[in-house]
Amino acid sequence: MRPKVSIKEIVRGLHSLVAGMRITLGQFFKPTVTVHYPHESLKMAPRFRGHIELVRDEKTGKPLCFACKLCEKACPSDCITVEGVKLEGEKRKSVSEYKLDFTKCSLCGSCVEACKSNAIRFSKDYNLATTSKEELIMDLFKRLEADQAKTGQPDTKDTREAGK
Ligand code: SF4
Ligand code: SF4
Repeated sequence: MRPKVSIKEIVRGLHSLVAGMRITLGQFFKPTVTVHYPHESLKMAPRFRGHIELVRDEKTGKPLCFACKLCEKACPSDCITVEGVKLEGEKRKSVSEYKLDFTKCSLCGSCVEACKSNAIRFSKDYNLATTSKEELIMDLFKRLEADQAKTGQPDTKDTREAGK
């Protein structure tokens, strides 16, 4: 014998169905907040801290760093090694190597604070997942040069989006 379904139960079921559909439709027309990662990447918040990166002089396009090593000394985790060369006709050194061991970096910001020339800043780079520890030991000077080779122009402004 089939169980009897009362009118009250049918009304309650329909009510719950309509309530559920109302929520679904409400969400359906709201703006999308997810992205198709890794094909799309998010623009990171201005205060986001990625690994540090070198900054170029807006006028000359050259790195602002002159290898004074203040950031190297300020780093509590010994992540930074800076080398510089004195080019002919220049009064002070130019950075020639800027090694960052990101495996040890705690993103504390002491290096950025120590640099009085604003020659380093936090990048917006968050796409760093890797299975190789060596890939997280970077030469920021070489990365800067590679960025310029990729875009054909020096990246002087802090407008880079993550993943670029
Ligand atoms: S980033 Fe700044 S503090 Fe560090 S070596 Fe270069 S100029 Fe000196
Ligand atoms: S953010 Fe802190 S731990 Fe990381 S490199 Fe700079 S000083 Fe060192």
